[in-house]
Amino acid sequence: MKPNIKNIAVLTSGGDAPGMNACIRAVVRTGIYNGINMFGVTQGYQGLINDSIIPMGARSVSNIIHLGGTILKTARCLEFKTEEGMEIAYKNLKSRDIDGLIVIGGDGTFTGARNFSKKYNDIKVIGIPGTIDNDLYGSDFTLGYDTAINTVIEAIDKIRDTADSHDRLFFIEVMGRDSGCIALRSAIASGAEAVLLPERFTSIDELVTQLALGASTKKSSSIVIVSEGHKAGGAYDIAKQVKERFNHYDTKVTILGHLQRGGSPSSFDRILGSRLGFAAVNELIKGNTREMVGLRGNEIKTVKIEDALNNHNFKLEGDLLEMTKVLSI
Ligand code: ATP
Repeated sequence: MKPNIKNIAVLTSGGDAPGMNACIRAVVRTGIYNGINMFGVTQGYQGLINDSIIPMGARSVSNIIHLGGTILKTARCLEFKTEEGMEIAYKNLKSRDIDGLIVIGGDGTFTGARNFSKKYNDIKVIGIPGTIDNDLYGSDFTLGYDTAINTVIEAIDKIRDTADSHDRLFFIEVMGRDSGCIALRSAIASGAEAVLLPERFTSIDELVTQLALGASTKKSSSIVIVSEGHKAGGAYDIAKQVKERFNHYDTKVTILGHLQRGGSPSSFDRILGSRLGFAAVNELIKGNTREMVGLRGNEIKTVKIEDALNNHNFKLEGDLLEMTKVLSI
């Protein structure tokens, strides 16, 4: 039986995340398998406005499952926030009779999808959580997070080698905006001495006390993970403030920056991207709209995009928080 939905477009928007290509591949192939015409939109919502909407076949997604970034490119598009921008996007989709749209991105992308679909409800929209920040309600993990944290850990391990050889204190800044998920989990996985999170204020005094304790028990190096959203400032600021009060170690700062976004996706992100892409097309086939597909307890489940936007789920587990103190003595 042919599904009701005839033409589906897929786009990636906001920050790129490893696993997006695996997800695009799954979306395109699941659609084609079900007899649906598939389209790719380049540069997120900007491509909808620029009419950059291209037909995609099973072979257009060959050999991309292992690639980082997104073959569709991504962009931040202010024009899509306006009524006029949305209207142009709608007309471009309608000119190809597109009746389903799958958006892969973070909360900004979902806000756009929700607003667009409320205004033009004859185009059904499904969201896929794709962001390294892991900050979306309704999915235990977002696409790209696992690869990003593995990249972070690999970098910290390398820094630890040199820190240990020179008796140094390193402040390593990681991404995450308002979410300390990358910082907290990478601190646990790399055995960092301390972590500064946006969700929980740690004063310089507290940090110095913790570092001094390590020094007094003969730690030869210390690593402090600083989440970019921490209220006391970035890694350079914090390093300066700590150095003024505690100069037991030679102090260095590393900002990991955009390397955290790149790289070949981990097996986890390839599988997650494939599952979410497959599920998103099936939700459109069932006739659903304004839903986000996510992973919860190893099952793919849906949540209303509205609910995903209204709840913040930064998932800072209590045991992990406690372990940052207990395991770093
Ligand atoms: P990441 O978490 O990786 O940054 P994101 O999806 O949150 O991803 P944003 O830049 O916040 O990234 O949003 C992506 C795009 O979504 C914006 O560039 C814009 O085109 C669209 N968007 C965001 N907010 C709105 C809005 N209120 N109305 C319409 N479109 C929006």
